[in-house]
Amino acid sequence: MKALEEKILREGEVLPGHVLKVGSFLNQQIDVPFMNEMASEGARLFAGVPVTKVLTVEASGIALGYAVASRLNVPMVFAKKSKTANVSGDLLQAKVFSYTHNTFYTATVSAEYLTGRDTVLLVDDFLANGEALKGLAELARQGGAKIAGALIAVEKGFQKGGDALRKAGLRVESLAIIDEMSPEGGVRFRS
Ligand code: 5GP
Repeated sequence: MKALEEKILREGEVLPGHVLKVGSFLNQQIDVPFMNEMASEGARLFAGVPVTKVLTVEASGIALGYAVASRLNVPMVFAKKSKTANVSGDLLQAKVFSYTHNTFYTATVSAEYLTGRDTVLLVDDFLANGEALKGLAELARQGGAKIAGALIAVEKGFQKGGDALRKAGLRVESLAIIDEMSPEGGVRFRS
């Protein structure tokens, strides 16, 4: 998605540790009209696929997840990263290594929200090594839900997650794929 590439070039900042900071529109401040544009493109990519729910993970997946779900006219479920008092009953849980926090968390969803009647579209803001998507896929598997595919805003194609998940048979659609980035050299996209 050309507009996303241009926005990353204008507003993104490459931090050490292969982290792209896009706090101005995706990770802290949300550029709502632009989020809606990304969601429309995502919904177009999965048009015709019978999705019953969008599944994402808090916090940064929620905005895009919500916007996509709104276009597909389905509920959005987000996995929580810690078990709070308002998560109860039977739980689906997956241990996930967090790229940005460098530690494990347990992605948790109440079992009532993902069942064998569901076909889920996985949504997240970034794809790096694929741990978050694998965790979401595991939650869907535990609930007996089918997976339609995954929609990602920014894939870092120089990290191994996207290719490995595609090889494993998951349909992964990324709105922008970065092939190279460094604080000195900036960002180069896959053409
Ligand atoms: P993965 O699980 O694929 O290794 O990493 C994806 C998760 O880590 C996403 O949920 C995202 O929140 C976070 N993440 C990974 N790389 C980046 C990055 O370069 N920038 C930001 N802002 N988040 C990232």
